[in-house]
Amino acid sequence: MEKKLGTTFYTFTTHPNTSSQINRITDRFFTLNSLNQKCMEKLDLYYNRENGNVYHEGIASEIPDRISQPLLQRRVETLIGRKGLKASYNTGKSYMKPLLNTLHQKNKKESLDLMLKHLSRRGFGGLKCTELKKDYMKIRVKNCFNALPYSQSNKKVCFEMAGILAACGEVLMGEGMDCMETACTSQGNPYCDFHVFSHGLKTKEKKDEIINSIHPPEEGLVKHNAFHDPLRGETIFKDGSSLILPQGYMAHYQRELESLLGEKPTKKMEYILTKKSSIVTANTIKNKKAAGYLHSPVNFLLREMVKQTQSRGFGIPIVQEFYPGKPYLRLIVKNSFNAHGYFKARKPVCYRMAALCAGFGTALFNRDMDCMETKCTAKGDRFCEFIVYVNPHRRIQSGRSQKRSIQEMATLASL
Ligand SMILES: [Zn+2]
Ligand SMILES: [Zn+2]
Repeated sequence: MEKKLGTTFYTFTTHPNTSSQINRITDRFFTLNSLNQKCMEKLDLYYNRENGNVYHEGIASEIPDRISQPLLQRRVETLIGRKGLKASYNTGKSYMKPLLNTLHQKNKKESLDLMLKHLSRRGFGGLKCTELKKDYMKIRVKNCFNALPYSQSNKKVCFEMAGILAACGEVLMGEGMDCMETACTSQGNPYCDFHVFSHGLKTKEKKDEIINSIHPPEEGLVKHNAFHDPLRGETIFKDGSSLILPQGYMAHYQRELESLLGEKPTKKMEYILTKKSSIVTANTIKNKKAAGYLHSPVNFLLREMVKQTQSRGFGIPIVQEFYPGKPYLRLIVKNSFNAHGYFKARKPVCYRMAALCAGFGTALFNRDMDCMETKCTAKGDRFCEFIVYVNPHRRIQSGRSQKRSIQEMATLASL
């Protein structure tokens, strides 16, 4: 199996026994990164200071680390079995189709080339067409993002990628298509292979699914750089391997999950997983850079959190209340990525955003913090508001779940 780049942000737990593994992964990332630098291409991302949107090739986007979507998929599968994979497939298919439609050309082959290259630049993997016929095609994916958290699985796991490729097929063939994975890197294969075929039914275009994130170029944007490795179909942004998703993608996936699992379990799962990785990200920033800011590491981390959130297209956080020495933080976030596409929600919906704040709060105050969203644009407020606080009711992590975290860590380290 090939080594995977950019696992810096994939590490999971802060258990002391695993710190050496974290270092090993980080070292490997930088070594591989420098080896591949020769073939790296520069990607331009443009940031709009007014509304916090980040544009990739003219399309408003959000940029999570490369593993967070597949990690959620794996957790959903553990919770409710294979039927949970429908959320991944549906999101890939219905949310990527309008975006892929914008790349459609008269010539089929040209069209497909454009789409596959575009997906590669977004960090989904190195995609190649191995067969193109009138009503079916075969696509081979090297370094598929979807298989990242899986190793030695006896099943094919890339359902989100299959959905995305089904969308490619529909744009290309102009009819209803589906996609099935026929071989997967999680089974020890060097590639993931996909078969995209016609299902014989007309496509149903859902009007309300049309993404509103395609914009004409704007004036006065700030430029950010990302680096793309075309051979691996991987994109490095902010020192970590990332996915450039169209704006609203993760919120759409959340709604798919809510319709499968219900609101509460979705909230709990997204919160727990995102908080864990947010703690690791925040601690990495703290350890790497705080040395140069010894006089004010807390201010540094707070500034970094605001910067990272903005540059990843997650929204514009503004700190409202912060008192040195007191474990409490109140902040508002304008244009939260997590609320896109929600209309008239009854409760706040930004579970992942709350988890990001809780994770940074934990690193900031050096103690386990939680976060509660008190206002949300999804329910008609002008902005989202988050309170980061010490939760007196939080149960101490049980021995069993700690053991599970270590196992998860070991799986990730073996990637
Ligand atoms: Zn696969
Ligand atoms: Zn919100």
